[in-house]
Amino acid sequence: MTTTNPLAFLGEQLNAWREAGTYQQLRILESECAAEASFDGKDVINLASNNYLGLTTHPKLIEASVAAARAYGAGSGAVRTISGTMTLHMRLEERIARFKNVEACVVFQSGFAANAGTVSAILTPEDHIVSDSLNHASIIDGCRLSKAKIHVFQHKDHVAAERILGELAGKSGRKLLITDGVFSMDGDIAPLPELVSAAEKHGAIMMVDDAHSSGVLGRNGRGTVDHFNLHGRVDIQVGTLSKAIGVLGGYVCGSRNLIEFLYQRARPFLFSTSHPPAVAAACLAAFDVLEKEPERIENLWKNTRYLKAGLMDAGFDTGMSETPITPVMVGEAAQAFAFSRALFEDGVLATGIGFPTVPEGKARVRTIVAATHTTPQLDRAIEVFAKVGKRLGIIK
Ligand SMILES: *Cc1c(COP(=O)(O)O)cnc(C)c1O
Repeated sequence: MTTTNPLAFLGEQLNAWREAGTYQQLRILESECAAEASFDGKDVINLASNNYLGLTTHPKLIEASVAAARAYGAGSGAVRTISGTMTLHMRLEERIARFKNVEACVVFQSGFAANAGTVSAILTPEDHIVSDSLNHASIIDGCRLSKAKIHVFQHKDHVAAERILGELAGKSGRKLLITDGVFSMDGDIAPLPELVSAAEKHGAIMMVDDAHSSGVLGRNGRGTVDHFNLHGRVDIQVGTLSKAIGVLGGYVCGSRNLIEFLYQRARPFLFSTSHPPAVAAACLAAFDVLEKEPERIENLWKNTRYLKAGLMDAGFDTGMSETPITPVMVGEAAQAFAFSRALFEDGVLATGIGFPTVPEGKARVRTIVAATHTTPQLDRAIEVFAKVGKRLGIIK
């Protein structure tokens, strides 16, 4: 009897990706996540982590997580709504709400869960979502899960967003206007003041995902709402605890009723176990650090300016970036992955990104600088970029 493997298509697809040069090999981190770290047996300058402020290895966070594990154990034992809500979880939510100057906050297991869980909980198939074309995958998935009608506007085109809201004015159903605060692949900032005005004018719910702005933009890293001084005018603020905060998780900030509603209906909150105590405790410590060590954020922006200027002086196209995320535009995906591999051989880790993460023809190598990079490290990184970029014909 001959049996055919019903999963044979997986191997065929993998081979096709390998041949096209777009197969992504996982890099294995063998040290702590630091400005210079060991991947695959090689010490490299790490321009590929979201550890903007170096908090993954901050002694205060490590001590807090160890102490919490000793006091409360390794796990929480249940989902939040059954018996997995610990004092630490409540303290963290109160701490974030105070920090963000909002009524209330709910913490999810990840930023992905926060976005997907929130959009799908508050909207129904009768409703409408107006969404930036470059919004994060977790927003897109949340929109799809809600089954609401999705209207995509061109990246950052707030005039188009407002026009769509105008066209929807006569239609029934709720309207949600949703955007990333900082866009993860391009490092540009959403036109939030204009979007907020459009939402207000048309009675839409305004939601912003501040994953890459938490700890980066605004006073002490309070995010884009603070950066643009839009307090009280954005209904739903999402943030992540996994990037600049250095740990793991996502949160939603807004009115008490919004948070109570999500406690009742957000599916990741109801059906997936809460954070271990060590995670909640480390996040709590991180917010203290944000308030007590503002020099970290100052350093982050100083390094951002330095690396960006260096890459641009070398002749690279750094796209639309306005933040510590600086893409180096390449074009074809295979070329971006080849560039990334060659950089790695010369001691710099920067991620190659191609379709479907970014549009076809817009492949790039993405750099993310941290507060903890030293000037000599950045000089070395710029030198390697220039040398390898010339060799591969990306710059002249
Ligand atoms: C990283 C990211 C998320 C997901 O956050 P996690 O905490 O890593 O799940 C959500 N939105 C945006 C814009 C992101 O960049």
